[in-house]
Formats: sequence, C-alpha cells, structure tokens
Amino acid sequence: MSAETDDDPRVPIVCPECETTSRIPLDDVADSIDRHNAQLHDGDDVARVDPDVADQLADIIAVELGLLEER
Ligand SMILES: [Zn+2]
Repeated sequence: MSAETDDDPRVPIVCPECETTSRIPLDDVADSIDRHNAQLHDGDDVARVDPDVADQLADIIAVELGLLEER
C-alpha cells in the first residue's frame, strides 16, 4: 500500500441556520461541529455533515480507519 494522496479528505459541513457550508479536514470535523454548535447555537445540534455525503463519508472513514481492506 502507498500513501500518495496529498489532499486530505475534506468533509462538507452544513449549517441550515447560518446558511453556511464549509469543508473541514476529516480529523477536525467533530471538533468543528461541536465548536460551531456550542458557540452559535447554545449547543444545539444544528450544524452537521452534509447528508448528501454522509453515506460516502461512512466509507471514507471506514477506509481511514482501515476497516475496509482493499480486495
Ligand atoms: Zn450555525
């Protein structure tokens, strides 16, 4: 296996109340969502991963964690 990808996987985060979308490096996604919701929405679960990519994201995370072996 080789690690030739030099672009980190980035995850689109959407916040319907702020009407913003930002792409966050996978490593920072949980922190960024927590921080955004804590600072702007009193800790409510408003900002979240774009549902359109949530399915793909599950695969990406699985790959990142080495849960999916290449066959
Ligand atoms: Zn927001």
